Amino acid sequence: MYDVIIIGGGILGLSTAMQWQAEFPDHRLLLLEKEPRPAQHQTGHNSGVIHAGVYYTPGSLKARFCVEGNKATKAFCQANDVAYDECGKLLVATNDIELTRMQALWDRTASNGVERHWVSADELKEREPNITGVGGIFVPSSGIVDYRAVAEAMARRFLAGGGTIQYQAEVTGLLESANDVVVNSTQGDFTGRYLVTCAGLMADRIVRMLGLTTTFTICPFRGEYYRLAPQHNRIVNHLIYPIPDPSMPFLGVHLTRMIDGSVTVGPNAVLAWKREGYRKTDVSLRDTFQQLAHSGVRKVLRQHLRSGLVELKNSMYKRGYLEEVRKYCPSLTLDDLTPYPAGVRAQAVSNEGKLLDDFLFMNTKRTVNVCNAPSPAATAALPIGQHIVAQLKPLVN
Ligand SMILES: Cc1cc2nc3c(=O)[nH]c(=O)nc-3n(C[C@H](O)[C@H](O)[C@H](O)COP(=O)(O)OP(=O)(O)OC[C@H]3O[C@@H](n4cnc5c(N)ncnc54)[C@H](O)[C@@H]3O)c2cc1C
Repeated sequence: MYDVIIIGGGILGLSTAMQWQAEFPDHRLLLLEKEPRPAQHQTGHNSGVIHAGVYYTPGSLKARFCVEGNKATKAFCQANDVAYDECGKLLVATNDIELTRMQALWDRTASNGVERHWVSADELKEREPNITGVGGIFVPSSGIVDYRAVAEAMARRFLAGGGTIQYQAEVTGLLESANDVVVNSTQGDFTGRYLVTCAGLMADRIVRMLGLTTTFTICPFRGEYYRLAPQHNRIVNHLIYPIPDPSMPFLGVHLTRMIDGSVTVGPNAVLAWKREGYRKTDVSLRDTFQQLAHSGVRKVLRQHLRSGLVELKNSMYKRGYLEEVRKYCPSLTLDDLTPYPAGVRAQAVSNEGKLLDDFLFMNTKRTVNVCNAPSPAATAALPIGQHIVAQLKPLVN
C-alpha cells in the first residue's frame, strides 16, 4: 500500500511528487507514467518560456501562480544546475489599434505586480534593430528554459528521496473506496491511501474513471512552430510577442529564443484530430468523435470559426504563417522557416461552450485531480504542486 499515488510524469505530477515527499519524507510514494520517460507530452513540447504573469486576469490562480512560479522556477534551476536565461520579453505593437490594446495590457500588468517598462518606437529600434513597431512593453523577468530538463531534475530528486516511478504504466481504471484508491494499470494494480492525477491531455478521462461527472472536456489544440535558420540565431535579443487581441489572448505567434541558442516562431493554435498527435496527419477516430460530439466544443468552434479558419490556412500555407511574423520582423523570408516539432495543448472546454481560462481542480475524499492546466502551467508548476499538497494535506491529517 502506498501513501500517495500520483498519475502523470509531466511537470505537474513530478512537482507534486517532489513537494509531497519534502513535506512527508517517510511516506511511500508512487508516480505512474504511461510513457518510457518523463515529459513526453506538453512538458516536453512547448515554447520553453518562463512567463512573468503579464496577461492573466488579476486575482486568478493563473496570475498568482505565474508570478510566484517565475521566481520559483529560476530558484529551482539554480539549485539543480538546469540552464535558464532571464532574457526578458518585449510585447510589440505594430499599429494604433494594438497601441490602444497595449495601454490596457499595461494597466493589467500593474494589478498583477509585474515589473515592466514602456518602450517608445525609438527605444524599440535601439533594443531590437530587426523588429518594427510603434511601441512596446518590456518585461525584464521573462526567461527561457527547457522544461523537459526541469522535469527530469524533479524526477531525479524524487527518486533520490526514495520515491518510485513506474514508467510504461498506463492507468486504465480507478476505484475509490472509504479507505483507499485502487489504480488499475498496464503494469498491474496498485493501492494508495490517496491519489493525485495530473494527466494533461487525458485529464477528463482519468477523472471519469473515478466515476465523477465532468462539466468539461479536454479539447486538444496543436501548436505548430518553425525554427529560424541558424544564421538568424541572433536576430532578436529578447522574446518578441505581439500585443494579444483580448478576445483571443492565446493567438499570435511569437519569436522565441530557445535555451539551445536557436530561435523559434510560433505557436499557432489549430484543432487537433488526436490528443497526443504531433504530426499534421495524426488522426484518432475516438478523439475526433468525442470532441465533435461535445456540444461545448461545437459551440467554441462556431464562435471562433473565422479565427479558426485563418489559423488552419496559416497551418497549411507557410506563406500565411510568415506574414504573421513579418508584421513585426519584416526581414524574414520563406526559406528562413525550417521545420520544428509541434506541441498539443490540453484546453478544457466547459459543457456550456467556454474555453476555461483558469487552472481547475476537482477533488474527492481521497483524490485531487488537475482538470485544466494550460500555459503558463509549466512556469507555475512549483506553486501548483504546492497548491495540490495544501489541498491534500487536510484530507490526510
Ligand atoms: C505548444 C505549447 C506551448 C506552451 N508554451 C508554454 C510556455 O512557454 N510556458 C509555460 O509555462 N507553459 C507553456 N505551455 C503549457 C505547459 O507546457 C503545460 O501547461 C504543462 O506542461 C502541463 O504539464 P502537465 O504535467 O499537466 O501535462 P503533461 O506534460 O502533458 O503531462 C501529463 C502526463 O500524464 C501522462 N498520462 C496521461 N494519461 C495517463 C494514463 N492513463 N496513465 C499514465 N500516465 C498518463 C502523460 O503521458 C503525460 O506524461 C505550452 C503548452 C503547449 C502545448
